[in-house]
Amino acid sequence: RAKGDGRKRHHVYEENSKYDHVENFIHELELSHAVDRGELALHYQLIYCPISNTTVGAEALLRWNRTDHDVVPPSAFIPVAEATGLIVPIGYWVIRQASQDWHQFRNKYGSSFKVSVNISKIQLIEPDFVDRLIRILENENVTPQAMELEITESIVIHDVRDVQEKLKQLRAAGFTIALDDFGTGYSSLSMLTLLPIDKLKIDRSFIQNRNESLLSAMMLIAKALDLLVIAEGVENASQFDMLKAMNCWGLQGYYINRPIELSQLPDISYKRV
Ligand code: C2E
Ligand code: MG
Ligand code: MG
Ligand code: MG
Repeated sequence: RAKGDGRKRHHVYEENSKYDHVENFIHELELSHAVDRGELALHYQLIYCPISNTTVGAEALLRWNRTDHDVVPPSAFIPVAEATGLIVPIGYWVIRQASQDWHQFRNKYGSSFKVSVNISKIQLIEPDFVDRLIRILENENVTPQAMELEITESIVIHDVRDVQEKLKQLRAAGFTIALDDFGTGYSSLSMLTLLPIDKLKIDRSFIQNRNESLLSAMMLIAKALDLLVIAEGVENASQFDMLKAMNCWGLQGYYINRPIELSQLPDISYKRV
């Protein structure tokens, strides 16, 4: 267990009545062994750029192959991992694994390929997060330019100055920052002035509604702020064509590929006409 997180656990459980306490307790016990038992795995979803017709990156999505269970989806264990502080050691495992995997990605897709990793607020507020992240990449022989960090706007529930300072340090070191699930929070627009970021990942709800006027508006805002846009949840050809016609920089979703193991990804960039 990560140091100093015992207090938060009870706090979060009390507030979150939607979680079943017993179920969570069992997950928690088992999750604390998941790294040691080798039960965690990363699946990847490619990010395709229709402008350059290349695969520009992939997002790492965590999977827990719990012994004697079906695969546990992130929605069932990430909240437990965050509430207990276990997300800290698990998060470092994800970063190390993604760094190791990058070498294979580079062989398949070229050296400008970026691997994206989701970072929760609990991880970012660790005092030595930036140093440890840099050290892990150094050990794996990966430059920060090869990694993108995905954060959500819920990150500013914590000390905004601390978050701003950390993100600045990370960008100065060479990491890029993407704001995930953009448009779903309460104050998405003010986040754009608060947080130093490089990319916007538009939440899949906007792609699935095919809300073209809202999507164009978001892309205009992104352009004005010099941010690249990635559309999440591209599920079919009509969504793909619409976004391509809008000059969206990056496309991600089941239509490109479902999250799968690295070994199952195609050897060359997707080429769609
Ligand atoms: P996210 O970062 O927004 O990741 C995108 C989610 O959308 C993934 O769900 C992905 O499988 C799903 N998705 C992708 N394309 C499509 C599509 O075309 N249609 C639909 N309906 N869904 C699509 P997943 O893998 O269940 O992950 C859920 C969330 O769990 C992630 O949302 C992220 O917030 C969190 N998560 C996953 N891995 C990690 C991790 O390593 N660390 C942390 N802190 N959070 C993680
Ligand atoms: Mg993400
Ligand atoms: Mg997302
Ligand atoms: Mg999401």
